[in-house]
Amino acid sequence: MSAVTLAAIQPAAPSVRSDTLRITEIFHSIQGESSRVGLPTVFIRLTGCPLRCTWCDTEYAFHGGGAMSIDAILAQVAEFNCATICVTGGEPLAQKNCLPLLGALCDADYSVSLETSGALDISGIDPRVSRIMDVKAPGSGEVTKNRWENLDLLTPHDELKLVLASREDYEWAMAACHQRRLFARCPVLFSPVQGQLEAGQLAQWIIDDKLPVRFQLQLHKVLWGNTPGR
Ligand code: SF4
Repeated sequence: MSAVTLAAIQPAAPSVRSDTLRITEIFHSIQGESSRVGLPTVFIRLTGCPLRCTWCDTEYAFHGGGAMSIDAILAQVAEFNCATICVTGGEPLAQKNCLPLLGALCDADYSVSLETSGALDISGIDPRVSRIMDVKAPGSGEVTKNRWENLDLLTPHDELKLVLASREDYEWAMAACHQRRLFARCPVLFSPVQGQLEAGQLAQWIIDDKLPVRFQLQLHKVLWGNTPGR
């Protein structure tokens, strides 16, 4: 008897919920960052992050959340009737089922981006996903967590984001971009830490140094302040 026939007559194993993720929130808003800024977007915020950036604005996602299957996530996302999805955190890649979730969203024909700290391996991510990857500057307190080998995996479909808290961070970022040839890999975004680096000052430095970066503010904070779920 062939293995295929054996499998066909054996009782199915009890179903195991192996596709569950811990979710802090799913909400419909306006994308506030990246080249997708301004687009109506459904955000899926996964719970948990192994980093502790000094200026983190999503500490409420470190703990808690609720368990959801990938099917349940897809069903909830579908209710918003929105073609653009952003998977964020926390650090989404800290949950192994983030990868099948990303694949399922792409299979459902959504335009999918992933916001990741850059501290975890990005090699297993579905290539249809646009990866928005942080490079942590010293002011974050997490510069040693940068996984530099991730840079070799980036394509023009992805984006690098540097959040800067000071002139020291800016000079560090400029040096890293030149030394590691980041401008040649994908679009590079510089943004100021709100309340620590004046936005106009950062914009002026970029102009003065003729840097080929995209300056960005967090549009959602301009619109609604630092409100969870917006
Ligand atoms: S990686 Fe993101 S979620 Fe994690 S501590 Fe840093 S800013 Fe917060």
